[in-house]
Parts: sequence; structure tokens; C-alpha cells
Amino acid sequence: MLGEWTLNIAATATEARLEGVTDPQSQIIRICTDTRQIQPGDLFVCLKGERFDAHDFITQARQQGALAAVTDHHLDDALPQLVVEDTLIALGRLAALNRNRFSGKLIAVTGSSGKTTVKELLASMFSQLGPTLFTQGNLNNHIGVPLTLLRLNAEHQYAVVELGASAEGEIDYTVHLAQPQVALLNNACAAHIEGFGGLDGVVRAKSEIFNALTDEDTGIINLDDDHASFWQEKLDNRLRSYLTFSVVNDAADIWVSDLAENELGAWHFRLHYQQDSIKVQLKLLGKHNVANAAAAAAAWIATGLPLQAAKSGLEACDAMNGRMKPIALQSALIIDDSYNANPQAMQAAIDYLATRQGKRVLVLGDMAELGIDEIELHSQIGQYAADASLDGLYATGPLMRHAVEAAKLAGLNAMHFENQGALIEALKQMLSEPVTLLVKGSRSAAMDRVVTTLQNGE
Ligand code: ATP
Ligand code: MG
Repeated sequence: MLGEWTLNIAATATEARLEGVTDPQSQIIRICTDTRQIQPGDLFVCLKGERFDAHDFITQARQQGALAAVTDHHLDDALPQLVVEDTLIALGRLAALNRNRFSGKLIAVTGSSGKTTVKELLASMFSQLGPTLFTQGNLNNHIGVPLTLLRLNAEHQYAVVELGASAEGEIDYTVHLAQPQVALLNNACAAHIEGFGGLDGVVRAKSEIFNALTDEDTGIINLDDDHASFWQEKLDNRLRSYLTFSVVNDAADIWVSDLAENELGAWHFRLHYQQDSIKVQLKLLGKHNVANAAAAAAAWIATGLPLQAAKSGLEACDAMNGRMKPIALQSALIIDDSYNANPQAMQAAIDYLATRQGKRVLVLGDMAELGIDEIELHSQIGQYAADASLDGLYATGPLMRHAVEAAKLAGLNAMHFENQGALIEALKQMLSEPVTLLVKGSRSAAMDRVVTTLQNGE
């Protein structure tokens, strides 16, 4: 955290009533919401989750050395308390205070796909200039964003924050806490659609990332996205300056030429901005990462940095676990893309697999959170895989049955397995031959278990 933090300062920021506090000037070391991580001197914010209510753990927090707790009603415990109306809002206010003390550059990233990848690219780039805070893992919601902002400390010069949404209004809330100078909207598609009532809702919700920009700040838009003009109009209306990026259109501010891939499917290309251009060779696999790199370069330029200096950070960024990560196993190459999936990401993965040499088998689990169109969207993926002339589709999960049916009808060698165990047994038979297996599914499908089981040779 940045600057001085006392119980008194926290109480003022959260409009709290102090109860049982003997010394309001006591120093807060950290702000924490998880009793398992509490250390002496922490302020414990009691959040209510679906399964747990942290108010139930106040005694444990005291025993672990917490300085005080933020609660929504007085609790019968000796731990000093800052009693507020809503502890989640209090967490946000504490985060906003810490963010306002930060004088470096803050970049916020949203979109349906590629948020974490763009964040990792930017983290790799800015870390070369100075200490950079970035979202850990996927902590991108109304709890994760404030926790991320609370990790800003005096050393940081840059911050890259991922903003996700499960409903309209969530990004509006988190972006006002984050107050970015650069706000990047990567794309929109029918991902996590259930809370939005349709794609229009997703498109609007993502554009909330521009809601906290001031005149000196910059919005970034993907010109290749079907919804680019809607977002441009929003920015035009608000008289903000913005930058566009594109993989196919040289009318964009940041654009790409000379695209080609190496044997493994890592792309190299030339990135352009005004009169400048750089050659980039990514380590990340898949053509969709060219778009993510162009997005990251646009955010870099929006912070006032020269294009030339973007090269080394873009090129240094490695694949994260579960995101297009190549793993050699016996004679096979597994592409572990099991972290998550949505229709757009599935298509990107199929496009990648389709251009590999030799035998190519797609290994899929269900896509979740697709709302009433879920069956149709799964069928479309089966059709898309067949159109890509892959050598096989091996799938499991109730919705994937529809993808397999569609794929079979379209002539693809497709098989559906009752459970992961049966799927894994079939895959094991393939490892002794040269084959590329791309493994993917939504988080809830836990297709990472398929990869780890194969790796462990169980
Ligand atoms: P989440 O909503 O889970 O936080 P995310 O937006 O952070 O996802 P990533 O974790 O970066 O996205 O990527 C997830 C998957 O989405 C990747 O493995 C890849 O298949 C796909 N993907 C990434 N970038 C793009 C892109 N620009 N266009 C289409 N698909 C993409
Ligand atoms: Mg993410």
C-alpha cells in the first residue's frame, strides 16, 4: 500500500464507526479479506461470499494478529472494529484511496477474450521500464480489482489491471476505482453472456471501461471487432482521444503487416505506428495473439512511449499455464489451452490447430455461461471444426454432444466420451504417434485435469 495507513484514515475513507479502538493512529500494514492469509497488523475486511461469511472468522483473524476488522455490524469479539454499512463498498473505498495515492501510469484492460494475455504482454513490457503491478491470475471482478489496487506500493511505476464483468455495471464500478489513464477494449463476443441478456448487453458492458476517462486519457479500440463503430461513437461523443488497432486494416493507428508463422505456430510480423515500424517475433502461439500484441502496443503508445521500445517486452512474454502452452509428451505435442473457452476463443484455437502439420485432434470440454443459445453455439463449434478439416474431435461433457453430432454430420471423425476418464484412456493410445492435441474447455469443464493426468502418466 502507499503512504500512511492508520485506522483513523481507513475509518474516514469508509465512513466507519470505530468500535473497541483504543488507538486510532495504529498503523495498518496490509488490507486482507482472507483469514488464511492474515498477518499481524492487517486490517481484515469481512466480505460475504456465496458460501462463506467472513464475519464468522473474526476470532481467528484476531488470533492471527489482525489489527482490526471492517464489519457490517458490531460483532461480539475483542478485535477492534470499523463498522460500515457494506463491507464490499468499504473495500472499494480503501482501494480507491490507495489508487489515488499512486502517481504512475495505470492501464486497464477488458474484452471478452484475451484480457489476461494482453495484461501479461503489458506486464512483460512495462516491467522492463520499472516496477509494475499487474493483476494476479484472473482477479478481475468487483473484489479482485480492489484487492489488486490495494497491492500498489511506493515502488510501482506502472500498473496493468484486468477488468472482467459478469453483468452490466460491474466494469463501471471497477473502472471508477482504477481510474486508468489508458483504457483498452480488446473485443466482444458471446462469452459469459448469461448476466447480460444478450450480446448487446456484453458490448455495452465492455464499453463501460471508457466511463472513467478524462480529457487527458486515452481509450483503445479494436478496429477489427464487429462492434468497433459503436465504441468509437461512444468515445467521439465524449470527446476523448482514442487509438485503434487492427491486424488487417492499415487505416488503424497501430496496424500489422508481413504476417507469418513458424513451425510451432508462433507468429512474426511488422507492427506500424505513424512512420515507425518494428519487427516482432512472439513466443505466444496462435494468430489471435497477433491481435493481442497489437492491442498491447497501442496501450504502450498511449502512455507516451515509443514503438521501438515495445519490441523486447512483447517478444519476452511467455505462454501462461493453460493458455496455448505447448507440452511435448512422448511423440505427441499437447497444446494446453484448457484454462477457459468461449465461442470466439474456440474458433481461434481451431484456426491455430488447422494450420499445424501432421495429425491434428481437437480435445474439448463444454463451454459454460452461454445462455439459451448454448446448444446452437456448441453445434457451430462442431461444424467449424469439421470445416477446418481437422483429423479428429474428441469431446466430453453434455453440451459437447451437440458439437460432436454436428461435426459427424459434416464428415469429421468425432467421438463423444461419457466422462474425462474415458476420454483420457482414448488419448493415451495416441501419444506414441506424432499428433498435435489441442485441449480446451470452460473453466468449469476442468480440462486441465486431462492435461495433468496425461503428463503424470496416470
Ligand atoms: P477470462 O474471461 O477467463 O478472464 P481472458 O479474456 O482473460 O479470459 P485469456 O485468458 O487471455 O482471456 O485467453 C483465454 C483464451 O481466449 C485463450 O486461450 C485463447 O484461446 C482465447 N483468446 C485470447 N485472445 C483472443 C483474441 N484476441 N481473440 C480470440 N480469442 C482469444
Ligand atoms: Mg482473464
